[in-house]
Amino acid sequence: MKEELQLKIIERFPQFYKPNLYGCNQKRFYFECMDGFFDLIWKTSEDIENALKKYPVIYLESFSIVQVKTKFRELRVYWGFDKETAGVLDTNTSSLIYSNLVEITNRAGTLSRSLCEVCGRNIPAEHIDMTNNWILKCPDCAKKEQDEKQSSEI
Ligand SMILES: [Zn+2]
Repeated sequence: MKEELQLKIIERFPQFYKPNLYGCNQKRFYFECMDGFFDLIWKTSEDIENALKKYPVIYLESFSIVQVKTKFRELRVYWGFDKETAGVLDTNTSSLIYSNLVEITNRAGTLSRSLCEVCGRNIPAEHIDMTNNWILKCPDCAKKEQDEKQSSEI
């Protein structure tokens, strides 16, 4: 994902996207997907923030997103709570929050399956070809790539 888009998300949700040991850039959080998922990641971050705001503030404070990546053509959002706070959290509240967050991140995964990872457009179901390439592209982006490939071969 473009540097400026990544920074936009990090600046809006600094609490969620802190540097960590995952990914290839430990100085800041690194999004391992293409630009087309920007809106979906933004919306998902908002949903997570709104969900956490319903609970005691310790949950929001100890929450972070560990990794955001495309895996098997789907956006995956991995997250967790600080180990130190996990012990003091109430079990019932924790399991409520966990199922809430699982729902939100699973929904993002499902939605990503019909988005072009390059431009973010919705791909009509009949154009989704899971056999072709590792990145899910709309017909326009696929054609553009094909044209560029051909012109570089000439
Ligand atoms: Zn596209």
